[in-house]
Amino acid sequence: MTPGVRPLVAGNWKMNGLRGSEREFEAMLERARADRGADLMICPPATLLMRLSAIAGNGPIALGGQDCHAEVSGAHTGDLSAEMLADAGATAVILGHSERRQDHGETSAQVAAKVEAAWRAGLTAIVCVGETEAERDEGRAVEVVLGQLQGSVPEGATHETLVVAYEPVWAIGTGRTPTAEDVREMHSRQREGLKARFGKAGEAIRILYGGSVKPANAAELMAIANVDGALVGGASLKADDFMGIAAAYETLSG
Ligand code: PEP
Repeated sequence: MTPGVRPLVAGNWKMNGLRGSEREFEAMLERARADRGADLMICPPATLLMRLSAIAGNGPIALGGQDCHAEVSGAHTGDLSAEMLADAGATAVILGHSERRQDHGETSAQVAAKVEAAWRAGLTAIVCVGETEAERDEGRAVEVVLGQLQGSVPEGATHETLVVAYEPVWAIGTGRTPTAEDVREMHSRQREGLKARFGKAGEAIRILYGGSVKPANAAELMAIANVDGALVGGASLKADDFMGIAAAYETLSG
């Protein structure tokens, strides 16, 4: 954790969830009534955004999108603008997730254009960065991640407009996590990069860890310097698991 920085636990539902998932979200809301000392967010598929927004109201769980187009509107079949996400109830959007970089060939320059779009619509951009296993084995993890950070984040970021999510690609959905020392090193290098670029604002920009976070390993990960929360995939689909991860913050702050 970073002293004075309020953590964020964000769930990325990816391409999962039908109408019945409302009940899981309701169960999360029910358990999140008291202030847990952390911000909570769920990023459902776009089809559920308006439905969950109606349930969430101004409650303790915010909503986010999973991607957006850089333009406001136009002939872009199948895409959604940041304005549409905001209109549907999102306050943030995940951008540059490794699944988008890999499946859709998104470059850091394209991610940066989407971040500008998110800011234009008043959304916080959750920008994902992370090395592949091959890049780590080649000793290039820091270089790759700092390069993605530099290329994906435009000038002018603040702790209100930007959240960074460090997600080693090889840890996503695999049950594998880096050692605590590797996480400490990667987050500390990103913090240095953010401070060098954004000065004082860079000290308070949240850097989440993502990749196989579970209730069982959340507290250990959160305790690492400059880990300001978690981006959670699989374990965010079930209220018990997601709220179990959120509870790790209570343990730390209590
Ligand atoms: C993710 O894809 O953002 C992620 C962290 O997934 P998981 O928690 O399932 O590894």
